[in-house]
Amino acid sequence: MKIIITAGPTREHIDPVRFISNPSTGKMGFALASAAARRNHEVVLVSGPVALKTPRGVRRIDVVSAREMLKAVEEEISFRSSDDEKIVFISVAAVADWRPKTFSPVKMKKSAMTGTLELVRNPDILKSLNKKRLARLKLVGFAAETGDPVDEAVRKCREKGLSFIVANDVSLKGAGFGSDTNLVSIIARDGSQENLPMMSKLAVAKRIILKVERL
Ligand code: C5P
Repeated sequence: MKIIITAGPTREHIDPVRFISNPSTGKMGFALASAAARRNHEVVLVSGPVALKTPRGVRRIDVVSAREMLKAVEEEISFRSSDDEKIVFISVAAVADWRPKTFSPVKMKKSAMTGTLELVRNPDILKSLNKKRLARLKLVGFAAETGDPVDEAVRKCREKGLSFIVANDVSLKGAGFGSDTNLVSIIARDGSQENLPMMSKLAVAKRIILKVERL
């Protein structure tokens, strides 16, 4: 099947040399792309700025901002009703929720900065795709939380129309941003839950791909 994965952070530029972003390294998304390619799926990896090598057998599209990420993902999905190809979209990227209201194409002078940055909401990629109501498109999300991740994960699963969501508590050592291991719970739309032990991101990825194959 065709599997589209987003990975890494997005950058929301204020001017050419300043941006808002987050500490995502892309490791979990790249591990998923690698695991999916090893299972012979057609894999498209839409990545924000990261320092990782493209896994073998994966087609990679590099983007910077959330809006570019949404556009790249939409271009990979055929919305023609005559098409019957099943597509799974796994949204692993830590998409910036906000971007600066204005972008200055030239570097802003310190003296011209007021100390207040006006922000506007970015599109939610999963929600935008869910609105298209495409039955052959299955959505899978990730949820990085601090504190109890499960309640929030169930809410997001329902709100974004996800088949399941992979929740991890990023405040734990060995889980989340930058780490090579992860401690996750897989939570389905009906609230059922599978808690995996601490394992490498590649091992987590393999488990998720097996679940994706059953969607
Ligand atoms: O940020 P949040 O916790 O809501 O993220 C949950 C899921 O939604 C993740 O899979 C993330 O990739 C996705 N997301 C998105 N577009 C955004 C923000 C988050 O697709 N603007």
